Formats: sequence, C-alpha cells, structure tokens
Amino acid sequence: STIQEKGQISIHTENIFPIIKKFLYSDHEIFLRELVSNAVDASQKLKKLAGFGEFNGELGDLKVTVTLDEEAKTITVSDRGIGMTAEEIKKYINQIAFSGASEFLEKYKDKLDEKGAIIGHFGLGFYSAFMVSDHVEIITKSYREGSEAARWICDGSTEFEITEAERAEHGTDIILHIAADSEEFLDKDRLRSILEKYGRFLPIDIEFDGAIINNTAPIWTKSPSDLTDEDYLNFYKELYPMSEEPLFWIHLNVDYPFNLTGVLYFPRVKNDFQIRREKIQLYSRQVFITDEVKDIVPDFLMMLHGVIDSPDIPLNVSRSFLQADSNVKKINGYITRKVADKLGELFRNDRAGFEQKFDDIGLFVKYGIISDEKFYEKAKDFCLVKNVDGKYFTFEEFSAAVKENQTDKNGSVVWLYTNDLQKQDGFIESARKRGYEVLLFDTVIDSHFINQLEYKLEKTSLKRVDADTFDKLIDKGINNESVLSEDDRTKLKTLFEEALDSKTGTVSVEAMPTDELPVIITLPEFFRRMKDMSALSGER
Ligand code: ADP
Ligand code: MG
Repeated sequence: STIQEKGQISIHTENIFPIIKKFLYSDHEIFLRELVSNAVDASQKLKKLAGFGEFNGELGDLKVTVTLDEEAKTITVSDRGIGMTAEEIKKYINQIAFSGASEFLEKYKDKLDEKGAIIGHFGLGFYSAFMVSDHVEIITKSYREGSEAARWICDGSTEFEITEAERAEHGTDIILHIAADSEEFLDKDRLRSILEKYGRFLPIDIEFDGAIINNTAPIWTKSPSDLTDEDYLNFYKELYPMSEEPLFWIHLNVDYPFNLTGVLYFPRVKNDFQIRREKIQLYSRQVFITDEVKDIVPDFLMMLHGVIDSPDIPLNVSRSFLQADSNVKKINGYITRKVADKLGELFRNDRAGFEQKFDDIGLFVKYGIISDEKFYEKAKDFCLVKNVDGKYFTFEEFSAAVKENQTDKNGSVVWLYTNDLQKQDGFIESARKRGYEVLLFDTVIDSHFINQLEYKLEKTSLKRVDADTFDKLIDKGINNESVLSEDDRTKLKTLFEEALDSKTGTVSVEAMPTDELPVIITLPEFFRRMKDMSALSGER
C-alpha cells in the first residue's frame, strides 16, 4: 500500500516530566548515586582532557564533596571537574535524555582506553534530583579559559532560569533543596550509608562530613600480577569485616567478548546450606548496582563472596539489569568456566591442599555437578569422594580401586557408601571384613549427588551399605547357602515387620554364616533414596 504520511512523534515535556521523576527510579535514594556519578564523570573527563593536552591548568585535588545543611535543608554535591558554560547547561541539562557522557565517549573514542571510562549513559540521571527536591540549583563554571560561571535553577516544572553567578574555580555545585516529603535524607547517617553503599569504590575521592568514604583503587581494577595474597585477604576483610578468612579466590579478568573484572572468594561454608546468599556485589564502572546477582552468577555459585564489575551487563535506565540478555548468559557461562578451571588448577598443583579444602568446597562442586552439564565435564576430573577412613579419591581413582573386588551381576562397579557412620557401623564393619571400600556421603547435598553420579558414571551403581546383603549387592560368585529353613525365615520376617510396623516388603532376612551379624534388615536402595530426597526438599 502507498504511504500516506511520514512524520515525527512529538513529546509534551510537561506530561512526560512527572513520569520521569516519579517512575523512572523506584528507589529514591539513588538520586545521590546519580549526582555523585555525574560529579565523578566531570572529574574524570577533566583528567582525560589533561591527558590529551586539552586542559593545561592545574588539576589539583579532584575530590567530590557532599555537604549536608540541615538548617537550610539542602544537600550539595560539588566537584572540581570540567564544569559547564551556560550554553552547555542548555545542551546537557535542559535536553532530557541527551547524554554528555555518551557524547564525550563518542568524541574521544579513539583516545580512550576501555578502563576507567565514563559512568553516564542515558542522559536521565540528573533528573533523579527532582525525586527528592523542591527545586534544584546548579552553579557551575567551565574549565575553558575565560569562562563565566552560570547558575541554573528549576523547580521541577518545565521552566528554568539561567543567570550569571560567582564561582572561583572550574567545577560544579549541584544544590538540592530537599522537599518536605523527602526530609528523611537530611540525615547525616542516612546520607553516609547511601554514599557508602553506592560510592564505596568510586574512582575519585568522595568526601563527606570531613572524611573520604571510598577506596578509589579496589583490587579488581588492578592486574593480578601486581597483587599479593595479603592484598586479596585485606580486600575480603574490607568487604566482609565479620567473616572468617576465605579459602581461596579467583580473579576474573576478561575483555572479550564482554568486559568483566572481579574477584570471587570461596568462603568456608562447611555443611551449611542455610548460609546467607546475595553476598556477591555487582558493580558497573565501580558504581554499586545491586547484590542480587541471580542469572549473572550461576545458581550453584551464589554462595561465593566478592565483586563483579562489568560495564557490559545491560542496565536499564534505573540500572537494574535486564535478564535473559545474551551477554548475561555469556557472563554466567564464563564464570562457571573460570571457577571450574581454577578448581582444576588447584587440584593439579596442590592435591594435598585441595583435599584439605574439599570439605568446604565440596558443596559447591557437587551442586555444580548436579546443576550444570558444562561444569560436570570439568569437575568430574577433580571432584573427590572420601572413604570412611578419610582417604580421598577422584571418581576414576575410586572405580579403579574397587573394580576387581566390587562388581554386581550386571558387571557394574558397586560404590558402597554410608551416610551415617554410627547407625550403619555394623554394616561398614562387615563390608571392610570383606575387603570392600565404603565411601562417606553425609552432607545435605549427597542424596542428589549420588543420583547424579549413578546417572553420569557409566557402569557404576551406588549402594548404601545396608541396602541389601553384600552377597546380593556384590557378585563374587559365592553361593551362600542359608542355614535357616524357609519356615524360620518367614517367621523372622513377620516378626520384624510387625515390630517395625512395616508392611512394605522391605524386610529381608538372611542368615549370614560367615558374619558377626546374625540377621540383617535392609531397606532397598531405591525406596530409601526417594525417602531421603523428599525429606531434604521438605526441609528446604
Ligand atoms: P548521563 O550522566 O547519563 O550523561 P545525566 O542526566 O546524569 O546523564 O547528566 C546529563 C549531562 O549533564 C551529563 O552527561 C553531563 O554532560 C552534564 N552534567 C551533569 N552533571 C554534571 C557535572 N557535575 N559537571 C559537569 N557536567 C555535568
Ligand atoms: Mg549521569
């Protein structure tokens, strides 16, 4: 069909403005993140310009200062960055969704290295100031020689005013006149905690109440070769002052096909499944974004601690991240691979040390094996199983060790295990008398892990030591003639079933002439495993 008309869609600012202010950001406290980010950007730009020879004045101390005046009911964010001329205010501030940050990146894209670049992006952050302010004032002076200072004021309507102003140095003050319904922010402690939350690792000093609140060079921004173990441990303490020392860490550092840096720590978790999650913090260019890292970090690694920083995680304007993005999936896969490689390396380089840590890392490894096929492919070579004497084997080593002695009628290797050293003590003893190896699987995740092993490992069957009589579990070609008559057996069986209140046919009576156990009662592997698993999921 023929085109009737082509045209431009127009926006009525007075209608869209309240929407931007009210609904763009769900969390009002982020106004501080946005304004401080802008101040940091302004400072970084000046630094870069000095580097490119486009600014020849004194850089001086570029710190950003946040000031609270409870009486005047103002919060001021000041920087000594590039500042703005009146023309630039009109261009960058008055034009909603025009980003001076993106413009800068575009203009200098050939000269800028990826790292330490600019935070801003959408050209909307500044307007978050109106979520908490009656009116907002800007007093600013451009770094360009001979610039006049300018003052901009706006009450959140679509009208603004620009006048001349006094300012000795280049840079910008953003003065928020806090609205009556936002007076909660006129509180020193509240402000400090917001600043610390979002600005703790910003690359330019942030001063509040006479003190610098941030570490401008956190270790993830550095090269691993410049860092010592102590640096990593100190950083861990900085992040989690109350936690025990971590076991080891992984420094993430990739720039293709996405940019990502970070440090992940393996905490000591022991057998503790209830440990608090959401310990990993997500940053974008050193600005804190969130500690809900679901989707970015594979589920089985959610208990790790540490920091991930990626400018390539697609953030929407409110900087919550978008799920189901292909970069997010790639990042997730990358982290899985990195963790698997690091574990493999630890295993190969220091088997004894790896075994020592395995009680702590085993939970992650097993969870990973259960939930992630790619992780399994790597982990099957370093995942360990432990026998009742505390000796560790890889899967392959264990199968090799028991292959001769422990196979069933179908020729499958039988991995005997116990999940309770005390209760199954008699069975374990009998097994050992026969020269059988018994593994210890007594952690919360083991019933799932056992299922997974049986499914993954070829010609291998896992049986709990009390699953049946050994002569039925393991085929040695021995024909153990029962010394009991059929009649005696039935009587005994009925007796035990009554005593156990069990009519499920789970009692089997065997007389074992060669054994110290006169009678054994077993519960078939399959039933029992089902029971274990449903008990586990009921608990969680
Ligand atoms: P973004 O940071 O995503 O570009 P903002 O709405 O936060 O968008 O800010 C819009 C623009 O206003 C910035 O890109 C920048 O050009 C200018 N600006 C904001 N704050 C400052 C400041 N403190 N100093 C200099 N320029 C600023
Ligand atoms: Mg911004």
